[in-house]
Amino acid sequence: MPVTSNEIVVIGGGAAGMMAALSAAQQGAFVTLLERNEKLGRKLNITGKGRCNLTNNCTAEEALAHVPCNSRFLFSAFSRFDPQAAMNFFEYLGLALKTERGNRVFPVSDCAYDVTDALRAALRRHHVRIVHDRAQELLFSEEGALCGVRAERGCYSSAVVILATGGVSYPATGSTGDGYRMAEAVGHTIIAPKPSLISLVCRDECCAQMQGLSLRNVALRVKNQKNKTIYEDFGEMLFTDKGVSGPMILSASAHLRNYEKDRYRLQIDLKPALDEETLNRRIVRDLEQQHNRDFGNVLSGLVPRSMVPVLIARTEIPAHTKANAVTRQQRRRLLELLKCFEVEVMGPGPIEQAIITSGGVKTTEIQPATMESKRVPGLYFAGEIIDVDAYTGGFNLQIAWATGYAAGCAAAQRGSDAVLYN
Ligand SMILES: Cc1cc2nc3c(=O)[nH]c(=O)nc-3n(C[C@H](O)[C@H](O)[C@H](O)COP(=O)(O)OP(=O)(O)OC[C@H]3O[C@@H](n4cnc5c(N)ncnc54)[C@H](O)[C@@H]3O)c2cc1C
Repeated sequence: MPVTSNEIVVIGGGAAGMMAALSAAQQGAFVTLLERNEKLGRKLNITGKGRCNLTNNCTAEEALAHVPCNSRFLFSAFSRFDPQAAMNFFEYLGLALKTERGNRVFPVSDCAYDVTDALRAALRRHHVRIVHDRAQELLFSEEGALCGVRAERGCYSSAVVILATGGVSYPATGSTGDGYRMAEAVGHTIIAPKPSLISLVCRDECCAQMQGLSLRNVALRVKNQKNKTIYEDFGEMLFTDKGVSGPMILSASAHLRNYEKDRYRLQIDLKPALDEETLNRRIVRDLEQQHNRDFGNVLSGLVPRSMVPVLIARTEIPAHTKANAVTRQQRRRLLELLKCFEVEVMGPGPIEQAIITSGGVKTTEIQPATMESKRVPGLYFAGEIIDVDAYTGGFNLQIAWATGYAAGCAAAQRGSDAVLYN
């Protein structure tokens, strides 16, 4: 028996699922939102270090430029629901917003819970039925039409289903890849999930030696195997037991997309404010002023203490060399290291620790304007489950809002068409 009522089931109560459910309900659909956790928006609540960078105050075109692959797929969704629409939407829900450095938009309260609360309140106002249950598979009628969802605690009939189960990173928030399995079971291709916005594992032992050391105001350049600069940034980073992390590294990681074929090197400028000539003068001055001291001690005036043994090893200047015995050549080597401290990247950290999962349901199998599956009529996708991901700056949540909005509106339309024509 085909299901003909204007009912929609949304699987996943994260950013994309809540937006899809709300958009569908606003169009008059009866929506059931299935969320496996006891609360909605667990991941949303930890975004932006608990402050939720919910979008970026820029145009749709600028936002698309921050999506490294399959950005064309998002063109239609971003045109209909651009960052400005996202801001208007949240302000309409009663959430005051502010724009910070890099056009990053946050709630004025600096509290991500307020974003979830605003969405939850709107879902209630629009009578969305929220059920805490874990979806397991999509159900089909004998005729082969989508007719519902089987979950752990029961079945939910609907000819229209929106899959918004997220990726596989931060699995403790509920995103464990269930949606990939459900989509694959009905014939969709899943582009292998990979971590993005993630710390990097490095070959050099020096990282472990300096673990815990945080560098501020350093410049980073990422080179590929052909010595081409693929990313440049300025800011903060951290050495860890396995490599490097911190805001600048997470942003850089999204540009390192081909570990199988390419090799990447990080070049860190420890003194970006000083050009080579000025830095050289500073080194000469320090060595002259402290001519009777050991080179190692002079160095600790130039770089953080935990970096000194690493620089000594790399310059090959014995630590106890007196400052006045350092040769011009050795000084040159030190200068080069301070301006270009190289670390070789082995790969990304584990996907569970990634901010974003890159990969997911293949975009060519989804209608870009509606987010409807080209394989299964009545099935829609929204959010991180789709093979799209973006750089930092609020763009990933923008993807969740825009695709959620597109899927919710189109699903509601399809549901009401089903009522009309059956
Ligand atoms: C630490 C951290 C910080 C971040 N900060 C930012 C930021 O500041 N700005 C930004 O733009 N992006 C940020 N992101 C990325 C952003 O959180 C994601 O892009 C966004 O949450 C994706 O939304 P989604 O709804 O697609 O998936 P999710 O938020 O992962 O939601 C999926 C939901 O589906 C539920 N679910 C899964 N399987 C089932 C099932 N079988 N049945 C029922 N429910 C199910 C899950 O429990 C979950 O609630 C951050 C991510 C992390 C991890």
